[in-house]
Amino acid sequence: MKIGIVGSGMVGSATAYAMALRGSASEIVLVDRDADLASAHAQDISHALPFADPMVVRAGDYADLDGAGIVVISAGVNQQPGETRLALLGRNAAVFREVVEALMKVVPDAIFLVASNPVDLMTYAVQRFSGLPIERVIGSGTILDTARFRVLIGDHLGIAPSSVHAYVLGEHGDSEVAIWSSARAGNVPIEAFAAQTGRSLTDAARQTITDKVRNAAYTIISGKGATYYGIGAGLARIAEAIGGDERVVLSVSTVTGDVEGVHDVPLSLPRIVGAKGVMAELRPDLDEGERAALRKSAETIADLKSAIDDA
Ligand code: ADP
Repeated sequence: MKIGIVGSGMVGSATAYAMALRGSASEIVLVDRDADLASAHAQDISHALPFADPMVVRAGDYADLDGAGIVVISAGVNQQPGETRLALLGRNAAVFREVVEALMKVVPDAIFLVASNPVDLMTYAVQRFSGLPIERVIGSGTILDTARFRVLIGDHLGIAPSSVHAYVLGEHGDSEVAIWSSARAGNVPIEAFAAQTGRSLTDAARQTITDKVRNAAYTIISGKGATYYGIGAGLARIAEAIGGDERVVLSVSTVTGDVEGVHDVPLSLPRIVGAKGVMAELRPDLDEGERAALRKSAETIADLKSAIDDA
């Protein structure tokens, strides 16, 4: 599958690199307002191709995206140290209107994968500006938070993250909700797993894991200015699910009809992802605290939708 990436900064180039090494595409076209940057990244990444599966990685402009089945949108302005993702909103909305208009002229049939932060609201912006069906505008959402959650639970319990079934839902940001109540190790509830294996899983340990997941981006940004490798791999994974019609369950963001009484709000739920984009969304069992937290997360995002509607 041909994949376009609009915005070839740190996230866009890390996504292309992950896709190149994982063989997620047959061709990748990097587009950026800074054409020299896109060209430099394309060259650099293409030099990794002799060590990976054959494919083409090149730079281009919007016209070169013709025929792409997926377009990743990672254009925008950077999150500053200490800046919340939501504070980025106003700065990114204007960029997105311009990008979406250009894309709709060339690839109106593609699936759009949105990566720029605040990702839920930028997903809403792409859906609104494009008018595309919601299942074809997918934000990376909490795919990375869920990955971090599984890694930390796996570390704590001494099992592989791939055997931890647990999700972070809601906003990709400060109001995100780590769902502990249905977390499982294999098909065993994690409390039972901890008891069976003689490991402790105290409330304090859970809180530490939840806080580490929520603060991961801040911690990384304070150390190196930006985060990009993790999200690059997550976007490559979503693209593969679409390209291979995998119907895999991933926590990704789309505009959601109803979340605890909040309407048309973009946020992450576990969703089945295949060739047509999002095929279905799952509604996991939540305890009372999680339900309230998810409603609060939905309200936090919904409060800012007007910034896009007015953009
Ligand atoms: P991030 O860490 O989120 O990837 P970067 O600043 O490294 O942030 O990358 C964002 C990229 O988006 C930059 O390379 C910038 O040139 C690009 N960009 C910004 N506006 C546009 C636009 N309208 N069209 C295409 N690319 C854009």
